[in-house]
Formats: sequence, C-alpha cells, structure tokens
Amino acid sequence: MFRRRRLSCQQMVELVTEYLDGVMEPRRRARFEAHLAGCDGCTNYVEQFRTTVAVVGRLEVDDVPEPVMAELISAFRNWADDPDGA
Ligand SMILES: [Zn+2]
Repeated sequence: MFRRRRLSCQQMVELVTEYLDGVMEPRRRARFEAHLAGCDGCTNYVEQFRTTVAVVGRLEVDDVPEPVMAELISAFRNWADDPDGA
C-alpha cells in the first residue's frame, strides 16, 4: 500500500474551514499550503470561501456546513433581487 502523502482536492475542501479558522496543525497546514501552491482550483476555492465568510459576516464557519452557507448566500441574493423585499 502506498501512503498518501498529498492531500486530494476533496480533502482540501473538507479542510478549508479549519484552515481559515487558523486552528490547523502546523504540519497539516504545510501540506494544505503545498497543495494550494500547485492547484489553481483549490486556490480559487479557498479565496471564494474566504470572501463568502466575509460577506456573510460573523457566522462561525465551523458551525456552518457548506451546503447551508450556499443556501444562505442564495437567499441573500434573492432578497436583493426582489423589489418588495419579501
Ligand atoms: Zn486541489
């Protein structure tokens, strides 16, 4: 069996909140950043996630599963698009 040394993009997605929260172990963080350095897709993902958290405000990212956050963002867009504000 080969030992997995590199994080997969899927693992990156799972680790992003931990990374942005700054609670990641240094060794894991180094692997995360090594992956980022070589992967444009994940670099974009992390930047988008960071922006999302900034837009949504003070939500604790740890407490918000990604699908829920996506729904929140979509709900905010709908309110903005609705002239009645309903
Ligand atoms: Zn990647």
